[in-house]
Amino acid sequence: MLTAKILDNDPPTCIFIYGIDMIGAAGPLKNAKPETDFGLREFQQIIEATYFEKDSARGLEGSFMWLVEEVGELARTLNSGDPNSAEEQAEFADVLAWVASLASLRGIDLALCVREKYGSGCPRCKNSPCQCQHRSGEDL
Ligand SMILES: [Zn+2]
Repeated sequence: MLTAKILDNDPPTCIFIYGIDMIGAAGPLKNAKPETDFGLREFQQIIEATYFEKDSARGLEGSFMWLVEEVGELARTLNSGDPNSAEEQAEFADVLAWVASLASLRGIDLALCVREKYGSGCPRCKNSPCQCQHRSGEDL
């Protein structure tokens, strides 16, 4: 069970207690509607237009702490037993928004780096689906 205790500071402080027990699974995304996808680069640009000024003022460390809080909130929804709920969808969106924001603060084109690393399948074995023994590609 992963529990995340959020201390409501600004930036928030998140304490993770390791051990994860995710409940349920809705399955992989197979039937997404293309018209609902505006692409990772456009998403990053929307997040920049919306938040770059505030996130720049907050700084990298404070913005990173917001990402950590959102990861904690995602952990809570993944443990909720209600897969693919509106709340869970919103938490995924929040985590991705903070990742995009942090990438922008570092001048990183998220779409480009994701394509370079994962565009040809698993970065380690170069297969899709991955043929590595463990997801990380490292022997435990
Ligand atoms: Zn692999």
